[in-house]
Amino acid sequence: MAAFLLWQMRTDAEHRSQLTANSLVQVLGRDIARNVELYDLSLQAVVDSFGRTDVAQASPELRQLILFDRAASAPGFAFLLLLDARGVIISGSNDLVPKGLDRSDTEYFRHFAAHSDDDGLHISPPAISRVSGQQMVMLSRRLSNPDGSFAGVVVGGIKTDYLRSLFTSVDAEHAGTVTLYGPEGIVLMREPFDRSAIGMSVADLPSYRRMIAMREGSFVGPAMFGEGQRRLTFARLGTEPLTLSIAVEPSTIYAEWWHRALGLGMVLLSLCGVTAGLTWLLRRELVRREQAETKLLAANARLAAQAATDALTGLGNRRRFDETVAQEWDRAVRGHRPLSLILIDADCFKGFNDTYGHQRGDEALRLIAGSIRAAANRASDMTCRIGGEEFAVILPEIDLAGAEIVAERIRTAVMGWAMPHAAGPHAVLTVSCGVASVPEILVPNAAALVAKSDEALYVAKEGGRNQVRTASMIARSLRLVS
Ligand code: GH3
Ligand code: MG
Ligand code: MG
Repeated sequence: MAAFLLWQMRTDAEHRSQLTANSLVQVLGRDIARNVELYDLSLQAVVDSFGRTDVAQASPELRQLILFDRAASAPGFAFLLLLDARGVIISGSNDLVPKGLDRSDTEYFRHFAAHSDDDGLHISPPAISRVSGQQMVMLSRRLSNPDGSFAGVVVGGIKTDYLRSLFTSVDAEHAGTVTLYGPEGIVLMREPFDRSAIGMSVADLPSYRRMIAMREGSFVGPAMFGEGQRRLTFARLGTEPLTLSIAVEPSTIYAEWWHRALGLGMVLLSLCGVTAGLTWLLRRELVRREQAETKLLAANARLAAQAATDALTGLGNRRRFDETVAQEWDRAVRGHRPLSLILIDADCFKGFNDTYGHQRGDEALRLIAGSIRAAANRASDMTCRIGGEEFAVILPEIDLAGAEIVAERIRTAVMGWAMPHAAGPHAVLTVSCGVASVPEILVPNAAALVAKSDEALYVAKEGGRNQVRTASMIARSLRLVS
């Protein structure tokens, strides 16, 4: 979008510059052409009058009046001179003109002397007038006798200063370098004014030749004065061998554009900067939030773990037990997989506390927890403390036989510590275990499985403690009894 805008601004700049150059060439060209035409009319009037026999026969004073009647009115036209066939001044439009002087060496006289068939306007290169001492561009025409033979030349001078004033009046200088070329590519005037360029011929330069070939138009080509490329806009003036051109250095066309493009570029750049800055801030904020969220999640997970952990032993707590046993029950039923549950209760623990104190009681509980954890060490085994001195082990995928082994391992491990327990039936700290397993017994839900384990535990207590009893065993003995 910005690039398109800049490109359009650049095209506009080029277009505007071209328009200015075009209109300047047209306006100034028309002005110069009109002036030259006016001067030529004066010359033609002299030529016409000169050819008339009645004028030739008039007295010199009257002849002077008739001949130069229309000459004085043209602005910038210095004077008119009449040279005879030998190149000697015979009369002039003003009294200062020195009569009788030989001007056969002038460019225009030699031109007409050599080209007897040229009855058109001749434009000479700028030269210092010997009459006025000013630099002039001479315009001349051939004079003919009534019989058509060469009678001399009528010549008038346009002051180059006058040409220059035409250039400056249209403020040509701001549009580029304005140049007026005469015949043979002679520079007649140039603005900005450069005296050394006046009178120079550029006829051999490629850009000039291209201009002459095209007559009117515009192109970019090598500079005729100075270095580099110029965009030349030019036109041939009327029927005269005069060409007016405006040369613009391409860099100046885009100078203002560059200025604006730079300004716009800066604005865009700073906008980009602000956007990048904001994006960075936003990104940083998002990263911070993400980190905070991650921390929060971790903290939540920690809290959740804490909420499900027993502080004294580090085993799962009652809540954890309830959740896990329900989950594992569902899984076992869905997958027709075995599931075992062991309930463990410290024997005569009230007595232990009473004998050794609560502190030692806690130590004993930690010892039991350690023994349980060591015995049920598979990743899927779940060990919990579900009451004061009661523990549970959930064993997914483990059948009754496997569960009995684990329970027996726990029982012997606790006993193996030989922690004195004077109030207990075995003198050392012991536990009783109740085991229930599906599919060995049939129960409708998890709570029933817990109840069956509890029953087995009760039987273990009744049986003298420090032993493992299973629900299946009880069921069997009940069947036996009945
Ligand atoms: P049984 O062999 O029939 O299980 O007898 P018991 O004394 O172990 O059974 P009871 O349920 O009568 O007593 C449990 C005792 O466990 C009561 C209490 O003093 C003790 N106890 C419960 N929780 C804690 C605890 O967190 N720390 C300690 N030190 N003792 C506890
Ligand atoms: Mg108990
Ligand atoms: Mg107990």
